[in-house]
Amino acid sequence: MSRTPETVALAERVSRVLFLVAGWLAIAFGAVVAGGAVVGLRTAGTSADSLLLAGFMFAAAFVFVSLGVLVSPPFRRRLRRRRPISRFGRIRTLERRAFDNGDDSFSRCDGCRSPIESGRVRLRREEYAIAGVPVYTVSTTRERYCRTCSEYADSRGDRPRPSADRV
Ligand SMILES: [Zn+2]
Repeated sequence: MSRTPETVALAERVSRVLFLVAGWLAIAFGAVVAGGAVVGLRTAGTSADSLLLAGFMFAAAFVFVSLGVLVSPPFRRRLRRRRPISRFGRIRTLERRAFDNGDDSFSRCDGCRSPIESGRVRLRREEYAIAGVPVYTVSTTRERYCRTCSEYADSRGDRPRPSADRV
């Protein structure tokens, strides 16, 4: 089988979906096991045996939820963007990458408004982080630039624009 870019892209998309499904299944299974442990404790009382069983179930639930989080692509993307573990609260990130519409469609450069088919895209995110891991996205801004404007922005040091709702 030849590995053309299309089949590679398709395989990547399929594996992403599979990992997503596997991740959520593991998380759901972990939640069910944790729920079972709680129900077990409430119905069987707090004898040594039921406490031990519940302990094992909580440990298993923790393992499954952790596995699910690690396997699931959206969580992995967040983990990849993580900051030092001491970071709590609002963080700003800037991601730069090339873009190419790949067809005859064009976008407008956010700097000079000229029509462009390819260039650089800047993805600014404002997120809340717990222990360095972004858990909630406040805002995402996507800016597309032509190469000239992109280089100009780079030369200015490219600091994120201050948002209007500063506290
Ligand atoms: Zn431009």
